[in-house]
Amino acid sequence: MAGIWIQDEKRAWARRDLSSQYFGLRAAGDSPVVEVPHAQGPGYAALLACYPASNHRQQWALFDSGQAEAVLVNGEPMLAGFVLLKARDEILLGGRTRFYFSTEELPVVVPYPGGATPEFCARCHKPLVAGAPAVRCPSCGRWCDQTAERPCWTYGPACPLCGHPTAFDADLRWTPEQL
Ligand SMILES: [Zn+2]
Ligand SMILES: [Zn+2]
Repeated sequence: MAGIWIQDEKRAWARRDLSSQYFGLRAAGDSPVVEVPHAQGPGYAALLACYPASNHRQQWALFDSGQAEAVLVNGEPMLAGFVLLKARDEILLGGRTRFYFSTEELPVVVPYPGGATPEFCARCHKPLVAGAPAVRCPSCGRWCDQTAERPCWTYGPACPLCGHPTAFDADLRWTPEQL
């Protein structure tokens, strides 16, 4: 799941999971990121909205709500009123409150959801079984078995396709502190 990094008044960074479809961002107040029920909401400098994309992935867009506070993405105003966010994009509200968009997430075991077309385990190349435990790689979006008989995801230290670490408890690899 995507997330957003927020800096608190002590200048420490914390990551919040973007676990819903819409979030409002504001420059001031105790809660700079607030879950909102729909893509319009008063009192927010900018709105984050999630759209389903291909391959079980999500695309997040940022909308300038046109309120008084300037919204800059990577130092630039949003000329079209919105941008499609990429990993590590910097969002600056009102010249003072800084956020970073993050697409990093940890792998989790979930029942394989199935789909219209058959998919194959990225490790053993056998067909994935709907409802059986499996892991979707957070980086490349492909699935591996994670059943007792075929723990394909954790068979190696990294995703066989893209190299994303398979550990379930790894630290998220990037934080804004690295800037
Ligand atoms: Zn497999
Ligand atoms: Zn992968």
